[in-house]
Amino acid sequence: MTMAVFLLVGMLVAIPGVNQAQAAGAHELNYFNYETYTHEGRNWLRIELGLKGGEVNYTTNVRELTPKQLHVVLEDTSRGKVKSDISLDRKIAKYLTMRQEGSNNLDVMISLNKPVADQAYKVYTADKDRKAKKPYRLVIEIAADKLASEYEVEKPQVDAFEGLQGRKIVLDPGHGGSDSGAIGPNGLKEKDAALAISQNVANILRNSGAIVTMTRDTDVDVYGPMASDRNELQARVDVGNRDAGNQIFVSIHCNAFTSPTAHGTGTYYFASSFRGQLLAESINDAIVADTGLADRGPQTARFYVLKNSNMPAVLIETAFISNYQEEALLGDEEFQYKIAAAICKGISQYFRMK
Ligand SMILES: [Zn+2]
Repeated sequence: MTMAVFLLVGMLVAIPGVNQAQAAGAHELNYFNYETYTHEGRNWLRIELGLKGGEVNYTTNVRELTPKQLHVVLEDTSRGKVKSDISLDRKIAKYLTMRQEGSNNLDVMISLNKPVADQAYKVYTADKDRKAKKPYRLVIEIAADKLASEYEVEKPQVDAFEGLQGRKIVLDPGHGGSDSGAIGPNGLKEKDAALAISQNVANILRNSGAIVTMTRDTDVDVYGPMASDRNELQARVDVGNRDAGNQIFVSIHCNAFTSPTAHGTGTYYFASSFRGQLLAESINDAIVADTGLADRGPQTARFYVLKNSNMPAVLIETAFISNYQEEALLGDEEFQYKIAAAICKGISQYFRMK
């Protein structure tokens, strides 16, 4: 029943669309040319498709399964008398084929020698050129290669780890708001480094299928500005304990010491918590293995959030913000991601051990 209704709606929508397009007047190809040229030492291929019928709408895309093909879809356009399969220069592109896509659109496919991702290209329309005896055109230009500066800066792909599907995890980025935490010799605040690392941890955990609750995900106090330590820390514990389904509590901090030479990473757990110890060991091992930070080992501590959480809890002292080198690492986006991924790997190992 539901299906029939959907089909009917689909048809009602589709039919007027087609009629309108035809009424607006279709475009037709009336010119084709290609040439190669050199500009600033780089070889380019220029393909020109002349059109009658006014301004054409087009979309350019690269399909995942055919990365060496560049597709340009011209809306409401027919091929006219231009050949459907055309050989090109063979150095930059092998051939061009045109197929009528759906009822009105013309799919122009250019087969390249290299993946499109490794070539620069531009697609634009050009006005009629009386001198050159060229009509209104769609122009496709493809360079033989791509300059380093033309590659988009790619964000690191978010990792995913096994054993985390459906796991309920509480993340507690240390400090925040009125409480900066420790401040490094170059001014980096612990609250900012802890939040950046925690946000990466949350992204990776969620990408792995986990359900993540954060005590804070912006620069705020959890209880309120200038609260007592006890109120502030209890507010964080409350976020975790509110849902009995939460399985682990992970607090993320930076260490600090009066001597700037102190360095390394350590993860803390409450002495009587066996699972807390397992979790601390897994996380500590993964951080040491993947970041190269000196190993201060998993250790016991009576930190408030460890003592009062109703679930295995750990507090990670990622690195020393009071140490010049480690402060620089803690403020570095790449490192923030790297240590976050290591923390997630440790959490994943913990859940797979159970
Ligand atoms: Zn702290």
